[in-house]
Amino acid sequence: MEYLDLAPYEYSEFPIPMLSIGWLGREHGIQRLGSDPSTATSLTRVKTSSRRLGSLTLGMHLCEFCPDGHEFTGNGEYRYYAQGGEVFAAPMMITHYIEDHQYCPPAQFVNSLAGLDELEWDWRAEILSKILRDPEQDLHFRCEAIVDLANWVDVRAFNALMGAARDEELADVTGLEIGISFGSLMSRGFTAHGLDAIPSHIKYAIDHYEELI
Ligand SMILES: [Zn+2]
Repeated sequence: MEYLDLAPYEYSEFPIPMLSIGWLGREHGIQRLGSDPSTATSLTRVKTSSRRLGSLTLGMHLCEFCPDGHEFTGNGEYRYYAQGGEVFAAPMMITHYIEDHQYCPPAQFVNSLAGLDELEWDWRAEILSKILRDPEQDLHFRCEAIVDLANWVDVRAFNALMGAARDEELADVTGLEIGISFGSLMSRGFTAHGLDAIPSHIKYAIDHYEELI
């Protein structure tokens, strides 16, 4: 699947509008190939901001630019919630494209990565929280909401995750992601209460979240 950078994301359904980044292919080739003299800075910023994959069920992508015999494949996507309200979605291979094929992500995207850690609760968090709390919602969306709510170090994110942890059916399927999200919030200073009563596989994921993320 190939999209121009900053085009509306259409790769799969998602409840929040997103912009495509790094969905490279043969038609457009490596977008802005080597055009940024600060590619090393871009790479560092993108690498440190690409912490957690979502949508692992999307299937494998094959890099179309690696020479024969050096196949590189990736699965899942990174989503970046910018302070300005944009959400960018990039394939797992974005760092490979920058590092090995001189792909240069657009400045609008790279510049937005600076504020990812200081998100205030907003309409995007509200949508994700609503989806997670709604048992009628698609399980895939609920799971992605569990992953993405950890972007907000906020008691409302914690409470929505707690609801998921107490939902036996949901916790069975998504316990690992719930635990990683709890671990991620706590690693950024959130003081959690009430975790004694949650299932043990979620506790395990909290304790090992750095290896699991
Ligand atoms: Zn490659």
